[in-house]
Amino acid sequence: MIKLVVTFGTRPEIIKLAPVIQKLESHKGFNIVKIHTGQHDGLAQDMLSLFGIKPDHNLKSLASTKDLFELTEFLLPKLKTLFLNEQPDGVIVQGDTTSSYLCAMAAFYLKIPVFHVEAGLRSFDLYNPFPEEINRKQITTVSELHFVPTEIAKQNLLNEHVDSKKVFNTGNTVIDALFQIRNSEKYNRSKPSFLEEIEPSQKLILVTAHRSENIGKPLRSILSGLIDILNRDDSRLVLLPVHPNPKVREIVEASEFSHKRLRVIEPLDYLSFQHVLDRSDLVLTDSGGIQEEAAALGKKLLVLRKTTERTELINNGYTKLVGSETKLIAKEANKMLMSSDSKSSFNPYGNGDASKKIAEIISSVYYS
Ligand code: UDP
Repeated sequence: MIKLVVTFGTRPEIIKLAPVIQKLESHKGFNIVKIHTGQHDGLAQDMLSLFGIKPDHNLKSLASTKDLFELTEFLLPKLKTLFLNEQPDGVIVQGDTTSSYLCAMAAFYLKIPVFHVEAGLRSFDLYNPFPEEINRKQITTVSELHFVPTEIAKQNLLNEHVDSKKVFNTGNTVIDALFQIRNSEKYNRSKPSFLEEIEPSQKLILVTAHRSENIGKPLRSILSGLIDILNRDDSRLVLLPVHPNPKVREIVEASEFSHKRLRVIEPLDYLSFQHVLDRSDLVLTDSGGIQEEAAALGKKLLVLRKTTERTELINNGYTKLVGSETKLIAKEANKMLMSSDSKSSFNPYGNGDASKKIAEIISSVYYS
């Protein structure tokens, strides 16, 4: 029996690893140990319940650390002890958070092979997104297998001289999760009641912004852009689920940004969020996963970032980077909302079988 540790700690990591865990657990040859680093708390718990994942260990890092230094100091020794106790044959990490990076480093220090899911994303700007650009580059350097979501991501790794035999374009597991949830029984039963109150004639604009580069002045500037969008047309309504990060909340809840058609709400559970995405006429976001989901669903999309690692969406003209500039946000949003063209879905991220491929490839490493 091969023992694999799967590590996760944030909402998007759980969404993107849930289908991988399910596939690996259905494979007779694997014993899967799930480690929750605890970088997110409530948000992560909702996702774990939705996908029926029970972590074997929860390191609860959020409660004990307040910055990246403390997170490093807290997690590394705990991971060392856990990995030494569990003696896994491999460790799976996802994406580019600091906790994923620390899991990869702890495994590397103990000479345990690292398998990286959603590898190869690059913005080529060290400080955007911060600290993710460096985290993912570091994870690449210590990984044994690299599961990339697109050809561009694959090329990024080949340009860095990663061995092509170790790079696999599987698609992005976010699409697996999206399809799985939307085809589930519970999806049909979970439409949030507040959506019923929105008139069909109203234009719904879904906004999320919480990346560290946007906290502070940029977020204020984004919020001014939203007010501008609303003031141009009474039929518009902005829905803004706010991330629990107190630095984000403080700014969003400031009275200068109140508007009767700017609805600030708590983070939505994944099922409700998918219903809101469905109803949206336009999505403005700095999130990575939401860009992928919006494109796969054919939603009009603007990206609240200066740089992107999801170049597929820009190259194809599907979306634009508007950063945090008030005027640009208002202008481009207005253009998209006024245009009668509807977007057809654009999905460079695979057809929902990424996790199956990942499980098969890992299996072939140990069982061929
Ligand atoms: N999401 C959610 N509820 C929300 C906002 C986002 O379920 O209120 C989901 C969304 O569908 C996507 C993921 O969370 O799959 C994105 O997470 P986040 O924006 O935190 O991270 P990123 O994608 O930027 O890494």
